[in-house]
Amino acid sequence: MARYSEAVCRFCRREGIKLFLKGDRCLTEKCAIERRQYGPGQHGQGRRQKQTEYGMQLREKQKVKRMYGLTEQQFRITFERAERMKGITGENLLQLLERRLDNTAYRCGIGRSRKEVRQLVMHGHVRVNGHRVSIPSYTVRQGDEITVDPKSEKLACIAESVEGVERRGGIPDWLHFEKMALRAQVTALPERQHLTMPMNEQLIVELYSK
Ligand code: SF4
Repeated sequence: MARYSEAVCRFCRREGIKLFLKGDRCLTEKCAIERRQYGPGQHGQGRRQKQTEYGMQLREKQKVKRMYGLTEQQFRITFERAERMKGITGENLLQLLERRLDNTAYRCGIGRSRKEVRQLVMHGHVRVNGHRVSIPSYTVRQGDEITVDPKSEKLACIAESVEGVERRGGIPDWLHFEKMALRAQVTALPERQHLTMPMNEQLIVELYSK
C-alpha cells in the first residue's frame, strides 16, 4: 500500500492546523505546530501571499486527504464514490472517510493515530463482526461490531491508546465502545455535525468539479 514517508509535521505546518498525525505527541508541547507557527521550508517564514480561489480549494483537499492519511488516488476514488451516492457529495465524502475501518477504530481509541491503527488492521489485529479484516479502507456499516483479535488484546500499544482516548477528543456519538471488552458498535452512520475538525468539503467538491 502506498504511504507517505515524509516528516508528517510538515503537513500540519503547511496547512496551519493540527492534523493529529503523530498520536500523543500531538498533545504535548513537542508538537511542531506549537513550536513553529509558520510554514515549513526555507520560505516558510516569508510573507504569505493572498490565496487564489484555486489555492484555497487545493489546500482544503490536501488538508482533509492528509488528515485521513490517503494518497491522491485513494482520495479521488473515495470522492468518485461519494459522487455516485444519493445526497450531498461533500457530506457523502466526509461520511465515507469517517466510515473507513482505520478511522473508525482510531475514533474508538484502538491506536493513537490513524497510521498506527492502519498497521494494526493490516496485521490482522482487528475484526469486524467476528471476521478478521485487514483492509484499512473497509467501509463500516450501521450495526457492525468492531473488536480486537483475542490474541492481540494484551498489546501494550492498544491498552495505552484506549486509556488516552478522552485526551484525543473522546468517542463520537455514532459509536458505542466497551472499553473492557475492546468492542465497538457502529450505532449510527456519522453525520456532518459529528465532525468537529474545521473542514469545508464544498471547496473540495468545487476543486474536483473543474
Ligand atoms: Fe501535527 Fe502532531 Fe506533528 Fe503537531 S505533533 S505538527 S499535530 S503531526
